[in-house]
Amino acid sequence: MLLYFIQGLYIVAGVLFILSLAGLSKQTTARSGNIAGMVGMALALVATIIHSLFLSAEDPANRQSVLVTGLLIVAVLVIGAAIGTPIARKVEMTQMPELIAAFHSFVGMAAVLVGFNSFAVPEGAGGAVHLVEVALGVLIGAYTFTGSVVAYLKLSAKMSSKPLTLPGRNLLNLGGFVVFLVLMVWFVLVAEHDTTLGWALIIAIAVIGFALGYHMVAAIGGGDMPVVVSMLNSYSGWAAAAAGFMLSNNLLIITGSLVGSSGAILSYIMCRAMNRSFISVILGGFGSEGGTVAASTEEQGEHREIDAAGAADMLWNARSVIITPGYGMAVAKAQYPVADLTAQLRAHGVNVRFGVHPVAGRLPGHMNVLLAEANVPYDIVLEMDEINDDFADTDVVLVIGANDTVNPAALDDPSSPIAGMPVLEVWKADNVIVFKRSMATGYAGVQNPLFFKENTQMLFGDAKQRVDDILKALG
Ligand code: NDP
Repeated sequence: MLLYFIQGLYIVAGVLFILSLAGLSKQTTARSGNIAGMVGMALALVATIIHSLFLSAEDPANRQSVLVTGLLIVAVLVIGAAIGTPIARKVEMTQMPELIAAFHSFVGMAAVLVGFNSFAVPEGAGGAVHLVEVALGVLIGAYTFTGSVVAYLKLSAKMSSKPLTLPGRNLLNLGGFVVFLVLMVWFVLVAEHDTTLGWALIIAIAVIGFALGYHMVAAIGGGDMPVVVSMLNSYSGWAAAAAGFMLSNNLLIITGSLVGSSGAILSYIMCRAMNRSFISVILGGFGSEGGTVAASTEEQGEHREIDAAGAADMLWNARSVIITPGYGMAVAKAQYPVADLTAQLRAHGVNVRFGVHPVAGRLPGHMNVLLAEANVPYDIVLEMDEINDDFADTDVVLVIGANDTVNPAALDDPSSPIAGMPVLEVWKADNVIVFKRSMATGYAGVQNPLFFKENTQMLFGDAKQRVDDILKALG
């Protein structure tokens, strides 16, 4: 009876997770999607706790251990909350991508440990299918662990964002995968009779997974990291699903598959936005496509400057304005004065819209979240494809803390590391004002010819301060 109740809770939680994903796909329903996800997760936790206590009580050998199981569960909940709460409280929006990458690494390591545990103490009948689950779970988990650690180090600038290009690296990856297949078959054939050899093989599989994860993500160049982040998100889902198979836990299988497939769909969408091949991303081999050529960081001519009063004047006399935000807006927390400026210009009759590049900022949807946080109306926030044709009819473009996503070299210079990536074609407008603190490069480390064009003027300084100055000048 209790088991049916638990399975019922799992189904309700699974449905809530699906509703959550559906809600999160649109800005207007994102809040309710989040709530559905949180309620689903709470139900899943309750069901898991009841399940563990119930299983302890069921097993006659374990009869006294219900209390111990309960205490262990409380202990891990307290430890998890004690670590997670302060991190969640103090993390800045700009640090979210690296935090997500770090969390993915935990999922990967959990799958490796579940795999080891499941080999030591198999749930159910065991057999060849179970051993294949263990081998796959350990490989995917280990890959996700080191891949996510490298992504964390690259995103937090603790490791160079330059791609690691070992000679014959695609062959190395292929070789690693072939060795894995051989080890897996060997493991399935011998592990049940020879536990010692079984352990040696499963540990070797984990080592191959760790090496492949490190190598494949280290090979990805700076500007291609967004796709890797969402791909690792997908892998963490498959690692969780693999753990679900090993533990015979339906909810983990459902949740893992949802994360795995939604992460894969997001990666596919981002690959299309970045003009990269999805297949070569899955194989970890796309970083070298144009990413190995030394990037130009040299200044390419004279740039012109404007002050806040001049920018205010230009905006007040404009009919149409497009704002293209980037990572710098997030760092400066400039979205609030930007929202005020937008409201003021709109009240004056200026047509103000936003153009958001799919990889602007440091995580998918970064700019949309910031603008929504500052109450910018959804209907004036447009995707790159929706707005790119309108720049030519625009009086003023404000590039606020964006760089790579508005770099014409992506279209004009085949040797650029970001060659082929579609960008916001801001230079087609009559006037472009670029808000940044210096002539420094963006995430991909390449100089931007936009800054030296005739119709571009630089407004140097912290983006929030400069937008505040414009608001003051407007009175
Ligand atoms: P970029 O990283 O290209 O450029 C940001 C610019 O903001 C910098 O040139 C910097 O110039 C400026 N800046 C920084 N701080 C401030 C500040 N306080 N005030 C004003 N300006 C500031 O940003 P984009 O958004 O255009 O491009 C995103 C890049 O990040 C792409 O290369 C993308 O591939 C990559 N990426 C994206 C991810 C995603 O999922 N969206 C994940 C990982 C990487 P200065 O120092 O002179 O001020």
